[in-house]
Amino acid sequence: WDPHDLEENGRALLARIRNHLENIRDIPVAPDIDARQLQDLIDEPLPDSPTGFDDILEDTWQRVVPYLTLWHHPSFHAYFSTSTSGPAILADALISTFNVNAHVWKSAPAAAAVERTVLCWMAQMVGYPQDADAVLVNGASLATLYALTAARDSSLGDLRIRERGLAGQDAPTLRIYASDQAHNSVDKAAIALGVGTDNVVRLPSDEHQRLQPSVLDAAIHDDLRHGRRPVAVVATVGTTSTGAVDPVEEIAEVCRGHGLWLHVDAAYGGFWRLVEDIRPHIASLESADSVVVNPHKVLFSSLEVTALYCKRKDALANTFRLVPEYLRTDPEESAVDYMNHSLQLGRQFRALKLWWIIRSFGRSGLAARLTRSVRMAETLRARAREHPDWTVAASSVLPLVCLRYEPASGFPQGEGTDSRRQFHDRLNASIRDAVSRSGETYLSHAVIPAGYVLRISIGNIQTRPEDVERLWELLKKTAEACHRNLLE
Ligand code: PLP
Repeated sequence: WDPHDLEENGRALLARIRNHLENIRDIPVAPDIDARQLQDLIDEPLPDSPTGFDDILEDTWQRVVPYLTLWHHPSFHAYFSTSTSGPAILADALISTFNVNAHVWKSAPAAAAVERTVLCWMAQMVGYPQDADAVLVNGASLATLYALTAARDSSLGDLRIRERGLAGQDAPTLRIYASDQAHNSVDKAAIALGVGTDNVVRLPSDEHQRLQPSVLDAAIHDDLRHGRRPVAVVATVGTTSTGAVDPVEEIAEVCRGHGLWLHVDAAYGGFWRLVEDIRPHIASLESADSVVVNPHKVLFSSLEVTALYCKRKDALANTFRLVPEYLRTDPEESAVDYMNHSLQLGRQFRALKLWWIIRSFGRSGLAARLTRSVRMAETLRARAREHPDWTVAASSVLPLVCLRYEPASGFPQGEGTDSRRQFHDRLNASIRDAVSRSGETYLSHAVIPAGYVLRISIGNIQTRPEDVERLWELLKKTAEACHRNLLE
């Protein structure tokens, strides 16, 4: 392609994108096709001769687009309802055009400067010191691994694990603490670090799914008495199942008492501090040693962009700096070499899309859009509370609504039938399946003390109040039908 072809093809693609987005409400959220059928549709011999872009585009719209689950659909409410945005879509094209590799400062000076600026802006949004060390990485799971690796080297400096590994018969048992609601990226980090999943101490959360500081304190004391070595505590702001917010300040107090590193996984919850009436419910994150927040979950950015902050100066670099000869540059000519802050060497110019998004919407524009999602979630909760057969099963302030359908009457009784709770678990699972198969919405679920709940995340930039009203009508209608089916 010469630059002229690029522009022509780009126009054709943008026309398709425009048409797709303008008509998105007429398209099913998720496809109904089995894996074999789909693979047969996509499989073809390795192409030998070139294919024209018109054909590739047409084929993409015929064979790929209809079989995607559309995460950016205004009626997609599963997992975390994320969406990209105009500035992010176009920035991705420009990032790909320049294709700079932002590893050492010298290799991409403006990319490093923009990265520093957007990291400062986002630190202000989430209430973290702007002068903290920080880096953009490709996901919260890896950011947590990086933070816990730095915590290991900082907390257990005497063991020199970075240099010697875990060799030696008398290596102590290392421990990481988190609630039973924390994301399993903590366990994955424990696998990679040689800590082991058995040594992630999963503490029972309270009735609002929050980590309990007194339980944490007791667990650390117990481990110390038994000669185990604590590495770090992970608190969560916005848990995956219910959007619970751990009491970060009180947890930080416990950590301070033991000289322990506190990592806060605010992948989902951090940016909701932009919403004025949510802010009092989410403490500023400044007491954490490290923090992870996910613009690709909340800030209308496409995947994969996560920010990792660490206010312990040089802790990330002390762990990850390892400079081979070919990457050496003159320190006088370098501001920050981001390759020293994580395991990643080759790094995309991700900062550009955040620069475009934040400048396009402004802080107030982002806050207004997030506030709209919070309001729609409040409306959905209110609808459920007004209905005798529905309950709001978890009490998050974030727009992650957990609902459970428990009709007051009509469940089988007698020998061999489910208990009432099991019956309602099955009923709610069948509602989730049915609404997601309908193509009208797509939901995920959680199993919490209340039982199996429908998890409805609201956060897409295009979702409107009428979409949520339609969802509520669909839920009621489907719930009644599933109930009748189960009783038959
Ligand atoms: N932390 C929390 C609370 C999450 O919910 C998730 C994913 O949903 C993650 C971390 C992992 O995020 P990522 O997909 O960016 O690795």
